[in-house]
Amino acid sequence: MRTTLIVDADNVLFRFQRAARLLAKVEGIETQDCDVNPCVPGTWDAFAAAVDRNPGWVRNLQVLPLVEDVLKEIRGMGADVICATRVLKGSLRWHSERAAALEDLGFTHEDMYFCADKSRIPGHVFVDDDPVHIRKWQLAHLHGIAVLWDYPSTRQEPIHHNSIRTSDWNHVITAVRSYLAYHEGAR
Ligand SMILES: [Mg+2]
Repeated sequence: MRTTLIVDADNVLFRFQRAARLLAKVEGIETQDCDVNPCVPGTWDAFAAAVDRNPGWVRNLQVLPLVEDVLKEIRGMGADVICATRVLKGSLRWHSERAAALEDLGFTHEDMYFCADKSRIPGHVFVDDDPVHIRKWQLAHLHGIAVLWDYPSTRQEPIHHNSIRTSDWNHVITAVRSYLAYHEGAR
């Protein structure tokens, strides 16, 4: 398998949490002080309906700083980059708008995985801001590196000893580079 980086979309590629909290507020949906999941459990159906009432909301989520340059650099190094992003049950707009936004970032449809269980996706480096995904993926891919994208609300969350916690893209680039060198040497 070619050296593969898997990246989450919300809060890693796109500025999700602030926009989601704002949308929820406007739509009267209860939120919580959690960066990964601003919606209170049980309110996701209401959130999906809110997304559908606001065409372009997903499509126009702001791309986080450095993302475009980093994707270009990692692809230029010869690694594959795929995106693993959530399924929003009940929303008719979420998936098509997310796909269009990811295309703008250079992802083909082959590079996009809409799934709830990201541990099923094979790769070498996995970046996500959700500690649950990080722990599960790391256990399923012991030789990979899971990167918990650092946000204040998850600082107390435990991670596997192979995993790292950072919001510095240089650490991700270094990890990908180490796999590229390893695969090059193994040829
Ligand atoms: Mg996320």
